[in-house]
Amino acid sequence: MKFPSMAEAAGRTLGDEEVAAVERVIRSGMLNSVWGTEARALEREIAGMHGVRHAIACSSGTAALHLAVVAAAPDPGDEIITTPITDFGTVAPILAQNAVPVFADVDPADGNLDPDAVARLIGPRTRAIMAVHLFGAPARVDELRALADAHGLALIEDCAQAWLTELPAGPGERRPAGTVGDVACLSLQQWKHITCGDGGLTLTDDDELARRMRLFSDKGWDRAAGRSHAAFGLNYRMSELQAAVARAQLAKLPRVVADRRATAMRLLEALEGLEGVRLPRPEGHAWWLFPVVLPGGGAPELAARLREAGIPARAGYLDEPLNRAPVWQGPIYGSSRYPLEGYVPRACPEAERLVAETLLVIDWNENYTPDHVTLIAQEMLKFRPAP
Ligand SMILES: *Cc1c(COP(=O)(O)O)cnc(C)c1O
Repeated sequence: MKFPSMAEAAGRTLGDEEVAAVERVIRSGMLNSVWGTEARALEREIAGMHGVRHAIACSSGTAALHLAVVAAAPDPGDEIITTPITDFGTVAPILAQNAVPVFADVDPADGNLDPDAVARLIGPRTRAIMAVHLFGAPARVDELRALADAHGLALIEDCAQAWLTELPAGPGERRPAGTVGDVACLSLQQWKHITCGDGGLTLTDDDELARRMRLFSDKGWDRAAGRSHAAFGLNYRMSELQAAVARAQLAKLPRVVADRRATAMRLLEALEGLEGVRLPRPEGHAWWLFPVVLPGGGAPELAARLREAGIPARAGYLDEPLNRAPVWQGPIYGSSRYPLEGYVPRACPEAERLVAETLLVIDWNENYTPDHVTLIAQEMLKFRPAP
């Protein structure tokens, strides 16, 4: 059985609407978002969807995270606490601003940041906490918000894998991920729920943070004020082509997430009670991937077995958690490591065990059918924990 993949048309929702969007932009003659209308419209639509004052479109999820770090304004050498189980796009922006990433350990149940581990690492140089809603499962951002407020820190939410993830809410209330942090970041890269190839957005309710991020994304150039450069910035602008495709994709997002939720629930039901396997909690999950944890180990063996059956599964998600990445061994800026001289990332035993032995992720897709779920369940149900 063939599993639709996000790397091909069968596993994407790209169709006539996106073709029409691209044609509309090309025929308009204006492909740049400074003078066009598509990126500004995308920003309004995404801000509205999240109920926040500002959304700022940019060139990638990593660029969005860089803007978020710029908004938090660390001094060189200040520390930003984050998770070792994430895309490197979460961490690279910390380095780009000459700040120091401090890796806190994760909850072994789902790989999301453990707020107690974060609390233990807050010190005089801490400036911000960056949480990631890993695989689409809501991170414990309310607890992190309380910690950030108690210590005067910024909270950044990385929602690259968490389009329409829902945070715990009261009856009748809706709290999308991305509304608790001072800034939240989204990605439109090829492998996310919706895509325009590459693209990103930041969200914030804070007018001053929005101004800082907008300036940085356009070379520090306040277009309303003439040709004067008020601040340091790069060119992180989204093009009109990207924005138009993203808008067409955004209209399809609710269906994408609903379909992923429906098949994920089916798999959860089929696997209920399977010994030696800890299933993900479905509450609020957006199912970027379908993760399971094998507390007794054996994830690499099970992943290999699933792959033999044609199921797109991987153990560990990363080759090594980011606190163990080779990048920390060499120089980082030319021949220099400033301000990271003597820097050795902390050990994160829970993250290290997840990546090496206990975490298994199955690619998920809105175009999976009940037959795909049945095959995954059949193969998973053969799993026997080591005695
Ligand atoms: C994909 C991803 C990023 C980076 O986004 P790009 O658009 O690829 O730059 C950052 N964080 C997480 C959690 C991601 O999954």
